Amino acid sequence: MHEIGLLKNALSSVKHQALKEGLRRVDLVELVVGKMQGITADSLALALEIARADEPMFARCRVKVKEVEGAMECLDCHGRFSLDKPADSCPSCHGPNLKLISGLEFYVDSYSGS
Ligand SMILES: [Zn+2]
Repeated sequence: MHEIGLLKNALSSVKHQALKEGLRRVDLVELVVGKMQGITADSLALALEIARADEPMFARCRVKVKEVEGAMECLDCHGRFSLDKPADSCPSCHGPNLKLISGLEFYVDSYSGS
């Protein structure tokens, strides 16, 4: 359940910013989440419940998620492919030298409050 830690970190930076702007509560947070994080909507909802209980500022906050496709590049054949989970070898040449090029994002895109 690493999403709890990730979400807590994300929300604590939102809190920091929001307080500076004089907001008293945050109603909506838009997150960018890479598919390779392996985070499901259910586990994110649970993490949000925990964060809400912890922090009154987020008591009524909703979270919108923008998913980013996972992608890897093969360093041997230079093929690029998209996937949902990290792979061990290249699907075209079966080489083991893969580089992750996207899919591990987890950050706050925007938020709003009052
Ligand atoms: Zn390859």
